Amino acid sequence: MTDSTGSRATAAIHAGELKPRPEGAMVTPIYQTANYEYHGEDYHDVGYIRLSTTPNHRVLARRIAALEGTEDALVLASGMAAISGALLTVLSSDDHILVQDTLYGGTAGFVAHDLPRFHISHSVIDPQDPASWAASVTPQTKAIYVETLTNPLVQMADLEAVAAFAREQRLVSMIDNTFASPVNFRPAEIGFDLVFESCTKYMNGHSDIVAGSVAGPAEWVRRIKVLHDHLGGSLDPHAAFLLERGLKTLDVRVRQQNASAQRLARLLEAHDAVASVNHPSLTSHAQHERAARLLDGFGGMIAFELHGGMESAEAFLATLTIPAVAASLGGAESLMVRPAAAIHSGLSREEREKSGVSDGLIRFSVGLEGVEDLEADLTRALDACRAAVPA
Ligand code: PLP
Repeated sequence: MTDSTGSRATAAIHAGELKPRPEGAMVTPIYQTANYEYHGEDYHDVGYIRLSTTPNHRVLARRIAALEGTEDALVLASGMAAISGALLTVLSSDDHILVQDTLYGGTAGFVAHDLPRFHISHSVIDPQDPASWAASVTPQTKAIYVETLTNPLVQMADLEAVAAFAREQRLVSMIDNTFASPVNFRPAEIGFDLVFESCTKYMNGHSDIVAGSVAGPAEWVRRIKVLHDHLGGSLDPHAAFLLERGLKTLDVRVRQQNASAQRLARLLEAHDAVASVNHPSLTSHAQHERAARLLDGFGGMIAFELHGGMESAEAFLATLTIPAVAASLGGAESLMVRPAAAIHSGLSREEREKSGVSDGLIRFSVGLEGVEDLEADLTRALDACRAAVPA
């Protein structure tokens, strides 16, 4: 593990900026114009918001490619627009994809319920057991899909094995890097083909837009763009402007969140009201060694359980004064949510338990508040829980 590089912080601020600066403007202006004068370009390059060809889109595409270390990138209307558009580009009727056992709910739902309508099937793989993957490959298998750190348990697949397996089997490797962000991990560096970010989260970092990106080889990005030129999932220039503003502080925000989350994970682990804590920085985390080797930072997401299950979790959440109870993640505000009651409420208790999501599990998106204030707030609420649970 290394500290985040200076060059990445510089890229987040300057990569791909317009030169010369329009009218000397230090910030890319919002090009709030639907269409542009025609100069004989190919249809897909004509200036038009739906075609993602405005200066706001082009600056962002260059900046995100620089951050991810890929040939090209495309910014879209949401993380799901990037993920669904890429899956529909890579896969055709009768194709098959391998997917990790726990995925973000929107992606899992798209794979399980929407892709079959296009005659695209999937098999679920155990992300920790590379030797078992080949048994699921068929002549129709075209891709493999994983997440850098899973939601909500922050577990890490054997990512090096996934990239190597995809090369061996000639599959397109796809990875959702939202929980890590390119500050903590650049999947292309270990050989992943297509990298997704829900830019709604850390990339923008201010909980005020929905956006997404896909980064990878120029030819794949071009093909995904051509599909989205037809699907119409482009980002509005005003949201693009906000995303560019958010990206400028990505490096400093994520490094602060890494540091605060590490301190808070240790505090939670040491408190006797807490039954278990998942954060890749902890040596007790099942993939700690892998995370320490591959990541530049362990991220700002923690999952933990209190003694006393759901009742303790509810009482704890009600006692906190700083973290708000809300889904989503990666913003300046600390958020906590009980996945069983919110993001995983669509699953049966049996399905949730199978994926390790107990009713009492709490997911914590560590924000940018003073870490001492968060420590004091958590300690007070944990002490109150300990007093309430009979020894
Ligand atoms: N990937 C992950 C890991 C997420 O948590 C989310 C949203 O919560 C998405 C993708 C989808 O992103 P969006 O809401 O921007 O479409």
